[in-house]
Amino acid sequence: MAQAAMTVQDEEHYFTLVSGHRIPAVGLGTWRSGSWPDDSVFTAIVEAGYRHIDTAAEYGVHEQVGFGLQAAMKAGIRREDLFITTKLWCSDLSPDRVRIALNNALQELQVDYLDLFLIHWPFHLKEGASRPPKEGEVLELDMEGVWREMEKLVKENLVRDIGISNFTVKKLDNLLRFAQTMPSVCQMEMHPGWRNDKMLEACRKNGIHVTAYSPLGSSEGGRDLIHDEAIERVAKKLKKTPGQILVRWAIQRGTSAIPKSTHSERIKENIGVFGWEIPNEDFEALCRIPNQKRVLSGEDLFVNKEAGPLRSVADVWDHED
Ligand code: NDP
Repeated sequence: MAQAAMTVQDEEHYFTLVSGHRIPAVGLGTWRSGSWPDDSVFTAIVEAGYRHIDTAAEYGVHEQVGFGLQAAMKAGIRREDLFITTKLWCSDLSPDRVRIALNNALQELQVDYLDLFLIHWPFHLKEGASRPPKEGEVLELDMEGVWREMEKLVKENLVRDIGISNFTVKKLDNLLRFAQTMPSVCQMEMHPGWRNDKMLEACRKNGIHVTAYSPLGSSEGGRDLIHDEAIERVAKKLKKTPGQILVRWAIQRGTSAIPKSTHSERIKENIGVFGWEIPNEDFEALCRIPNQKRVLSGEDLFVNKEAGPLRSVADVWDHED
């Protein structure tokens, strides 16, 4: 146990954010993590050496994640060594809801501050909106008002960093017009099947760190990168697993990655990505995988083909893909 806590302090385990804080290069994802994410969180932190846990109000697992965090702290891990990310859901995307949502998250997670609070998706949904939304369920969004409230949380030390997720270049540019506190992190779908180079470049240009979500290609209905020929070839050559190749690829692009697993062997496997590298030629080959396609298009969540305002997946992504 103590060993894991020691090794995770190595420099290559972290990226530095524009705020000066550090984000661990590998975190545990908790979406679709079933009924016992507390066990996965405990295993990840205490047995595998993870320090970053990624969750969201929308995943419905805050309380269980909180139990896992508490158990890890009881086992001797210090709160200040953990990096806890959660996200503001679309029905809370109005200035008057931000603080309420944060307070709920802190209470459910049993912590008194967050390391990172992200806008989950840049769309405001009516509470209890259907999937896909019915007419009138996608509401007007006051992004400037929301961001101001997020900025206040940083000033009050309730949140160390604030950031965004599922943004386009257009939406990022708009945010940067009025942001007084820069978004430290942009979380985006990224893996060799959806490199998302355009957003990666836009973030780099602005000093915003990128976290790759669904780095393994996601779960149900996702892309099976684990059995992709190119990934398997590199894995075999380097004597690593496909999962490790995918996480390492993300890190070598300068992004942190948050693979999800509820199996302890895989949780341990997915963080075995330090102290070795994917050689350039193989890295480049993985950057050329064809059929670039998003797994998480947002269609079910936001598109109403008849009534809009988002009538297609292209509308969700501002026609940038
Ligand atoms: P991942 O790309 O992390 O893939 C998870 C799937 O891969 C699960 O089915 C898991 O199964 C399986 N898996 C995990 N490790 C291995 C391995 N070593 N070998 C083979 N299979 C493996 O998908 P997610 O979509 O969950 O993305 C990761 C995290 O990113 C989420 O959990 C969430 O925290 C975040 N996220 C954020 C989003 C956003 O909008 N900001 C959207 C989507 C995700 P098993 O559990 O059975 O091991």
